[in-house]
Amino acid sequence: MGTSAGSHSNSLVYLESVSKIYPTTAGEFYAVQNVTLEVKPGEFFSLLGSSGSGKTTTLRLIGGFEIPEYGQVFIGGEDVTEHPPYRRDVHTVFQSYALFPHLTVAENIAYPLRIAGLSRSNIAPRVQEALRMFRIPELGDRRPSQLSGGQQQRVALARALISRPKVLLLDEPLSALDAKIREEVRQELRELQRQTNLTFIYVTHDQEEALALSDRIAVMHQGRVEQIGTPEDIYTRPESLFVAQFIGKANFLTGQVMQLDAEMAIVMVNGIAVKAVAPKQVPSPGDWVTLMIRPERLQVGQSVKADNQVTGKTASVTYIGQRIESNVDTSLGQLTVTQLGGSATMGQEDVTLTWTAHDCIVIPSPPSSPVSSV
Ligand code: ADP
Ligand code: MG
Repeated sequence: MGTSAGSHSNSLVYLESVSKIYPTTAGEFYAVQNVTLEVKPGEFFSLLGSSGSGKTTTLRLIGGFEIPEYGQVFIGGEDVTEHPPYRRDVHTVFQSYALFPHLTVAENIAYPLRIAGLSRSNIAPRVQEALRMFRIPELGDRRPSQLSGGQQQRVALARALISRPKVLLLDEPLSALDAKIREEVRQELRELQRQTNLTFIYVTHDQEEALALSDRIAVMHQGRVEQIGTPEDIYTRPESLFVAQFIGKANFLTGQVMQLDAEMAIVMVNGIAVKAVAPKQVPSPGDWVTLMIRPERLQVGQSVKADNQVTGKTASVTYIGQRIESNVDTSLGQLTVTQLGGSATMGQEDVTLTWTAHDCIVIPSPPSSPVSSV
């Protein structure tokens, strides 16, 4: 019984080097490859990645709908790798709501409790509470076909939560809803998770959704986990070029490491020394790396506090609501700058851009990728 689970007694779900392989005519295909991740009790944990990156397969491995070729799945410290779904204390909400069309809303929500053998008098108040929690108290007698998409998904979520599973697995539960309703239900979902303190594992391809909802995010790419961290970690400290490009907007510069200590790196970009914060995976002097600077981290105008400074000419200015986005041609290349509610001081004249080393992230690049633009 789960001998190696001891060191992960603090985790509710633990995947250890899990791989799922599908046979194809071209040979073995790894839908999920060597994924290790840990979800703690009460966490809102998201799997974020583009279509085909292995999110659903990972969720199905946790839910017991797939068995991995390699690795182990632990839930609550117990090795459940080969257990069927009904022997795991998890509940899955799929993208399609999968409500029973012939049952009323109340009967749909009550279903897991009926299966568990609870008496009618025990079930009724819990169904009422669930209807209230999801702000659909008046819909109990309707059939699914008489509900909007947003209402159907609320019913599906209420049904999932009513049996209080240790872990709720949600596979893109909001993707079929239109933008306004999606944001509403998203908000409710987050509040509900906080109130109930249940553990959610949430699959989405929508980075905004993942950043807004999650305590931690695993970014997936081609069946692998690229990075796991808080939304802030992922956004401000991407550890790979993929994560940096996938999340948000950024400026990328290619350069060669000149100097390095525990905290700071100096990287030569087009003959200019740029100060940056040293990455976890420390490169060696002479290595080619990518520097990432978020557009909102570039300051317009002189600053004594800045570690880096470059001058340039504005190539274009775009107003996006309250934000102003400018492209500035500099000797480092074109840089995109975002200003919040700034006055449009950026005409054709020379502009000075500054930024701190702290906001300049070194990302190790594979040796083949750097193209010097000297
Ligand atoms: P995501 O949910 O991130 O879109 P999936 O986990 O559904 O990705 O799929 C990951 C990859 O595995 C995809 O390339 C998909 O085509 C493949 N895949 C998923 N399920 C199967 C299956 N049953 N048989 C063969 N290939 C599959
Ligand atoms: Mg999927």
